[in-house]
Amino acid sequence: MNIILLAPPAAGKGTQAELLENKYHLNHISTGDLLRKTASRDDDFGKKMKGILESGVLVSDEIIFEILTKHLESCENKNLLFDGFPRNIHQAERLEEMLEKWHDKLDFVFLLEVDKEILKQRITGRRICRECGSAYNVNIDSLKPKVDSICDKCHGNLYQRDDDNEKSFEIRYQEYLDKTSALIDYYQNKQILYRIQSDQSKEEVFQELCGVIEKEMKK
Ligand code: ADP
Repeated sequence: MNIILLAPPAAGKGTQAELLENKYHLNHISTGDLLRKTASRDDDFGKKMKGILESGVLVSDEIIFEILTKHLESCENKNLLFDGFPRNIHQAERLEEMLEKWHDKLDFVFLLEVDKEILKQRITGRRICRECGSAYNVNIDSLKPKVDSICDKCHGNLYQRDDDNEKSFEIRYQEYLDKTSALIDYYQNKQILYRIQSDQSKEEVFQELCGVIEKEMKK
């Protein structure tokens, strides 16, 4: 099973990916996480990446495919759950070619829909665990950590991403509208796009996602 989570910034891709990964034993691939790992390197390339990520613009397709291909080579589980990829039509076409080579295909593209104003509120409250990557939100009661700045799961320290501020958000959102939102029609035409209203609780969104998967798998 291969799935794409398509959504504007902070719509909950990472949160839902973690839940889906566990339930369906998928290989969660977040290009954002792969890029942040590269950006933490203390060399010129790392510094360049850090600058791009902080600004909120998209990274070039060449860099994305270099990092992604290298990562995929090291993965045994080929049931892929993409979070933050593809982000434009060119990336989508190259992904399709890659899957065809493996005699595989995409099964579901979930579009997580949330209003811009809600996304803006979510962005400033998001905190991530440095150790295990779990996400929290200090502005939303049900997503707050039990102890301030400490991860409930592994007791690691929580931090705020450099691009989780209003200025970067505006640019990330505009990039989404300009480049990524074209994928909505693209996948709708292929009849694998499923719209999920994602301004609900994370449990409700997850239930909807699972409902679609179970229903389609029975067909
Ligand atoms: P979000 O979707 O919440 O903005 P991500 O972690 O998915 O967060 O992405 C963070 C940043 O990483 C993006 O703003 C962009 O600069 C870069 N990025 C991630 N995935 C891609 C991709 N597939 N193509 C180009 N840039 C990407």
